[in-house]
Amino acid sequence: MQVKITDIKFEKVKIKLKEPITVTFGTIEYAETILLKVITDEGMIGYGESAPFGPVTGESLDSTLVILGELRKLLIGMDPLAIETIHKTMDHAFYGNTAAKAGIDIALYDLKGKLLGQPLYKVLGGDCPKVITDITLGIDTPEKMAASAKAYVEEGYRILKIKAGISGEDDVKAIKLIRKAVGDDIRLRIDANQGWTVNSAVNIMKAMEPYKIDAIEQPLPYWDVEGTAFLRKQITSAVMLDESLHSPKDALRIVRNDAADIMNIKLMKSCGLYPALKINAVAESAGVNCMVGCMMETKLAITAAASLVAAKGNITEADVDSFKFFEDDTVSGGFEIEGDIITLSEKPGLGIEVNM
Ligand code: MG
Repeated sequence: MQVKITDIKFEKVKIKLKEPITVTFGTIEYAETILLKVITDEGMIGYGESAPFGPVTGESLDSTLVILGELRKLLIGMDPLAIETIHKTMDHAFYGNTAAKAGIDIALYDLKGKLLGQPLYKVLGGDCPKVITDITLGIDTPEKMAASAKAYVEEGYRILKIKAGISGEDDVKAIKLIRKAVGDDIRLRIDANQGWTVNSAVNIMKAMEPYKIDAIEQPLPYWDVEGTAFLRKQITSAVMLDESLHSPKDALRIVRNDAADIMNIKLMKSCGLYPALKINAVAESAGVNCMVGCMMETKLAITAAASLVAAKGNITEADVDSFKFFEDDTVSGGFEIEGDIITLSEKPGLGIEVNM
């Protein structure tokens, strides 16, 4: 049976956050994302999502819509299962635009699952539908951060990801209060979002040593992989790279420089699942574990991300929590969450219902 793409439709979605979230790039009040569907001649539909984030992917919501319109013209008539060829077609037409391409890629995998009659985590090779996610704390006063940390732990979270990188002094104070509030059994990781220099990172991480930090994510600017390798030798916490890692080639550069203990894959940076699998393969071959993180994505893209985690033993960590901050999600299905445990749906593909 030869299936053909007959149309691709997409629309902007703006979702208010329960509370604004502050990171080094600024304060975010709304999630703005694009939901899309790839329609086939068999009447089957694959759903995808493009959630661009300017400071990281270089795309705006409007630029993503323009590129999706161009990709639509190129992909109509193609076989949606020819994922390798579709990625090549997209890459030959446009450099970058990783979130736009991720939206298409996710929809193709949703379709593939539906054609096979299997949930995405099984399509990707997995056999267990459960994933433990962390929860992210934005930058606020150290006292408020400690109070939210306590509330999340009471809700069942065992891993906290704490945003840092604006004031080193406040970062240390926040970690001290958070550790005191949550006790010794909760795992803490910090994300500085490129906010530090080698010197400030060494000093801040030394000051945080008594509070047992699992990992420091993206301490230095994205381009400074060599600096990160140097920093990694000076501190005891594991080093994770996020903004430095978009493609499998970036993963290889990180490995060659011995710059990270763990790599943070995000579908919106990698152009979706197909290249994300290659990143994980490079990392695994080098003995480096991966995490899958997210942008401000709805349950649609989060289901794709969580399915990837569920499918791969080398992906030991998940930071797939954006939907928790939304006042209301515009999609349903995909998974259930209880405490910090996500259980993926057994429905074919993403198992997501979208009203579009
Ligand atoms: Mg990050």
